[in-house]
Amino acid sequence: MKVDSFYCGGEWTDFAFFGVQHPQAGTRVYIPYFAFLFRSAERLLLFETGPNAHLVDNPAAWIGQSAELYEVEVDESQLLVNQLREIGVSPDQITDVVVSHLHYDHAGSITSFPAATIHVQRAEYDAASHADPAAGSDYVRAEIDGAVRWNFLDGDADLFGDGTCLVLSTPGHTPGHQSLIVQVESGAAIFVGDAPPYPATLADRVLPSVVWNAGLEFASWQRIAEAAVQHSAALVFPHDPSFRETMDFFAPTQTA
Ligand SMILES: [Zn+2]
Repeated sequence: MKVDSFYCGGEWTDFAFFGVQHPQAGTRVYIPYFAFLFRSAERLLLFETGPNAHLVDNPAAWIGQSAELYEVEVDESQLLVNQLREIGVSPDQITDVVVSHLHYDHAGSITSFPAATIHVQRAEYDAASHADPAAGSDYVRAEIDGAVRWNFLDGDADLFGDGTCLVLSTPGHTPGHQSLIVQVESGAAIFVGDAPPYPATLADRVLPSVVWNAGLEFASWQRIAEAAVQHSAALVFPHDPSFRETMDFFAPTQTA
């Protein structure tokens, strides 16, 4: 499938986000947000949606305590809906949204695509629905409660039954984190979301600062490594600060 990538702003935080024992932990790092559009004859599918429009002006009012750990920088032009319009794609044309998980930087705009089915793990929806905002969760209830067309998944899934979009259950960062294996023009690619968020996290096995269950996180890294071999797939790490330079072959193109 043809894929376009969209850089949707980002945030400054501690390098420990990529690994608490990484040598650079304790220093500040800029973490970009990305979303992806996959096009086939029948579908326009998004993987991730980037942040909510409320993060443009006052992040703390929308994500609460998380704004103390993550200094969000998003401008109006970086919102996914605006970037899609720039290439001639209207939000109501999107048929499907897959999110790796429901944290604000991945699922912040799920309510912006009224015709889309949102494919998410049931365990993730349950966790996000019961998250306590006062406890500093990275889930935002208003984003989740505003969405209606859900397709709840329980583990791995061949989304359309034709092998083009395979969901790989990769819990650990959150209870229902999932990764997406897609055949793009350059070959198979695994979009890993936050599991793990950075190449060295996986290569050096350094646990990130945000982990719901460390045992499951390590098991998911193993699943991703095995899937990469099985599908001869490249791993895509959108939070990697160097992603913008290395993945420019996913640059957006105008709709014909
Ligand atoms: Zn996350």
